[in-house]
Amino acid sequence: MAKQLPWIDVPCGVCDRYIALKVDPKLGGPQSGVCKECSAERKLAPGRVDEDGGLFACQCCGHDELYTSKDLPKALGMGVVIVAAVLAPWTNYISLFVAGAIDFGLYFMLPETVFCYRCETEHRGFSEKPKHPRFDLQIADRLAYGNKAVMGKAHREGGTADGPEPEH
Ligand SMILES: [Zn+2]
Ligand SMILES: [Zn+2]
Repeated sequence: MAKQLPWIDVPCGVCDRYIALKVDPKLGGPQSGVCKECSAERKLAPGRVDEDGGLFACQCCGHDELYTSKDLPKALGMGVVIVAAVLAPWTNYISLFVAGAIDFGLYFMLPETVFCYRCETEHRGFSEKPKHPRFDLQIADRLAYGNKAVMGKAHREGGTADGPEPEH
């Protein structure tokens, strides 16, 4: 059975759209992508990916610090809450609890997305190994402020691949 290739959504950089590109682990990531919206071409510097689709670095900029997060489409999550709020007076506010439960359930059903700290490219469908921990503000701070970061965390050898989860 042919396995679906992993793919990335790269911020266009010119307009606010994302460029969706397939990544064939055997060939490595694509070297460039063209935005369907504004036709801008974005050059890529894909980092390491192994034959099994294990992701070791960003497939857009090559940076090796990534974080894993659930990707609940905000519009969907908010939609459920708004409907629940409108219905609340008629349902003795039970709808709010139902909405909470639905959002909670959606959250667990959704696949995990791996984001790049530096360029915010989204990676989906890659192997679960190596695992990138969830968002760590101390890494984001270091990348944003460098040595001036108040809470910066030193770069780890090999980036975040199989790194420890942040304490907070
Ligand atoms: Zn564009
Ligand atoms: Zn990146």
